Parts: sequence; C-alpha cells; structure tokens
Amino acid sequence: MFNRPRGTRDIEPEEMARRRFVENGFRRVCQSFGFREISTPTFEHSELFLAKSGEGIIDEMYSFKDKGGRDLSLRPELTAPVMRFYANELKQRPKPLKLFYFGNCFRYERPQSGRYREFWQFGAEFIGPEGALANAELLSLGVNCLEEVGLKDYTLRVGNLKVLGSLLDKLAIVGEERSTMLRYIDKGEMDNLNTFLDSECPEEKASVIQLVTLKGGVSVISKARKLLNNIEKSTQALNDLEQTISYLAQYGIADIEVDLGIARGLDYYTGMVFEIDAHLLGSENQLCGGGEYSLAHLFGAQDIPTRGFAFGFDRVCLALEKGGVVFPAEKLDAYIIAVGEDIVPEALKLLREMRSAGINSDMDFMGRNVSKAMKYASSLNASCVVIIGKRDFENGVATVREMKSGDQQVLKLDKLIDFIKNQSESIKTGL
Ligand code: AMP
Repeated sequence: MFNRPRGTRDIEPEEMARRRFVENGFRRVCQSFGFREISTPTFEHSELFLAKSGEGIIDEMYSFKDKGGRDLSLRPELTAPVMRFYANELKQRPKPLKLFYFGNCFRYERPQSGRYREFWQFGAEFIGPEGALANAELLSLGVNCLEEVGLKDYTLRVGNLKVLGSLLDKLAIVGEERSTMLRYIDKGEMDNLNTFLDSECPEEKASVIQLVTLKGGVSVISKARKLLNNIEKSTQALNDLEQTISYLAQYGIADIEVDLGIARGLDYYTGMVFEIDAHLLGSENQLCGGGEYSLAHLFGAQDIPTRGFAFGFDRVCLALEKGGVVFPAEKLDAYIIAVGEDIVPEALKLLREMRSAGINSDMDFMGRNVSKAMKYASSLNASCVVIIGKRDFENGVATVREMKSGDQQVLKLDKLIDFIKNQSESIKTGL
C-alpha cells in the first residue's frame, strides 16, 4: 500500500467533472473579457520566488536541487512566473495585455480543509493601463467568474494600500517596522498589532487601528478622508477607490465592502487591493486575492502598471459544494450492448460513427448479458442504451431504450444517430 503525500488529493471522476465545469465557466468568462490563456512551467529557479516574495517564502516552498545542481522550486503561485514570462518575452506586445492562467501550485503548509500542499490557482493579470477603469475591469472579471458558476454567497472587499501607506509615511513607520505591522494587519492578528503598536509607536496607535478597522459601504471613504485629514497621497488613493466603485456600478456590481484594512502582506502591491471571501468555508475562507502591483522591474523589464488576482480554485469548488449549487449531471449519451460476439464488429462501427457525430458513447467490454450491462449503463448515467443483435443488424435496425422513462423502440440504424443526438444532454451542456 502506498499513501498519497500529505496535503495532496486524488480526485474522483464525479468531482473532476464538477471541477471542469467550474474551470470551463471561468475560462469562458475570461475569454468573453478579452483575456487570453497562457501557461508557464511547474517549477522555476527558486530565486524567482525569492525576488518576488522575500526570504520568508523559502519555508513555504518545495525546493530541490536538480542533477545539474540548480536550485529549483515547485511554483507556490503564478504571478512571479507570469511576470518573468512578460519580462522575457511578452513585453514587446501591444498593450494592454490581458492574460489568464490555470495551474497547480505547491506550498509546504499545514493541511486542513481548504488548505492543501498541492492546490490550483485560476488567475488573471491585466498589464498596461493605469487606474480606476482598469481596476474595475479586473474586479468585474473576478465577480463574473463567480456568477457564471452560480456562487452567490461571497463578499468582495476592496481597499487601497496607499491609504494606509500614506498614514504610515506620515508617522514615519518604515522598513522592518512597517513590514511587521502589515503582516499583522494582513493576517488579522489584532492582538499582535496592538502589542506591537504599544511598544513601537504608542502615540500613533489609535489612528492606525481606526484606519485598518474602517470597513463598510462607500461612506467609509469620507470617514477615511476625515481621519487622514487630506494627506495628499491618501486623497488620490481614496478618489481612485471611489472612481473604481463608480465604474463597477456600470458593470452592474454594487455589492462591495470598502475595507481599508486589507494589507495583502507583501510589499509589491502598490494601490488597489481586494479580497473575495466565502463565509461558509470557515477559517480558510478567502477565495481570491489581488490588486495593483509593480513587479516587472524585479525581472529585468521596465515597470508597467499591472493588476491581477488569483482564485484559489479548490476553495471556489468547495464553496459551491457547501452552498448546495447543483452542477449539471455528468452523462453518457449512449451505451451499446452487442448481443453475441459475432455482432461486435458492427457494434464497433456504430460506436465509431456515434463518436464522430459528437455523441458521448461507450460499449460493453465485459461480455455481460443485457440486463447486467444495462445496470452498468445506468450506473454511468447513460441517457440511452442501444441493444444490437445479429438479426436486428441484418434487418437494419437496433433497439433503443431511454433509461429515464424505460421507453423502448426499434429504430432504423440510419435514424439512430439523429435520434440520440436530439436526446443527448452532454452535447447540450458540454459536460
Ligand atoms: P495567494 O497567492 O496567497 O494570494 O493565494 C491566492 C488564493 O489561493 C487564496 O485566496 C486562496 O484561495 C488560495 N490558496 C492559497 N494557499 C492555498 C492552499 N494552501 N490551499 C488551497 N488554496 C490556497
């Protein structure tokens, strides 16, 4: 007996069909927004991820030396690889560049529900334009992905890092101090934040806490304006946030929580930041995170305004299942039962014709009798069974049984394909 490595999963056919349904839905929406899919390697030079995320990432990565002594890591995320790809090859292309990806990622974390060591991210990067309009386009893409697959119970929280940044600049909280604080804010560790502020900058504590706990409707923006007393950088950032929200209304998206406490941990975010949570997931409830960032310079290209997000694909699927979303059923359109070995060549010919006509079809390969083969077909959720015997074939007919109703009829072989096509679910739903 061999066990799976900790934190990995085997995915059974039924779950895989649900995952493909979600993936196809997301892909369809990305394409409808003019985003184009790319793919990058599963492993990269470790230094790529170090350059983006700092030394701390080492503990989280699956790293190894290859036989040539190179330091490599399985990708823990895809933004760094995508921006490396951009800097190496895509930067010459006309802007804006709208890219999306779907791939597995690896993190050495403590596994729990919704947190795995191998998981999938579905993400997008929008490279080129500056400002609120592009932010709204990206946010709308994320929201539309969720709507497409039927997820309703989520919260979109949007903030802007420059707002908190401008306060920290004013209070001269910089360097290590600032990073530690942002980490506490990002992880929601308010006790740690309080203790830290008490010891490092007690006079500033009240204003920092007030700002990072400012959450709610658009009115939060005016509260922040008052609190920050028109620090120039914060005014711009708040205007930008307001403008993003007003563009989002044009996209039909009004259900937004303004959250000025989103810190997203890492230093490379430059402006708008957002997160999408699904509360029914419990502690690991963040479905998506993203924002505006600046990374191209780290990989040797000129900086360019970029914004992106990554969905935790597994969590989206979990949220859909927990939320009771009904997925289209996986179906086989037709199952052929050849009665007798001597009819197998004709059955195979029919099977081939059906498949070329786009009908999802299978056949009995176990030499079972009709009733047992029918039971098996029903376990596959086959829409119909085609029973073909020697005499039938000589008369140019076969018996078709619709599994749901149990109705059975004898059809001419040349009508069979059209008949099944009209019935078939898989062709209609694309599953
Ligand atoms: P991040 O790159 O950390 O911003 O993660 C983006 C999204 O990936 C998160 O919002 C989660 O939904 C998902 N995610 C991160 N880590 C894991 C993990 N270990 N297992 C499953 N999903 C994860």
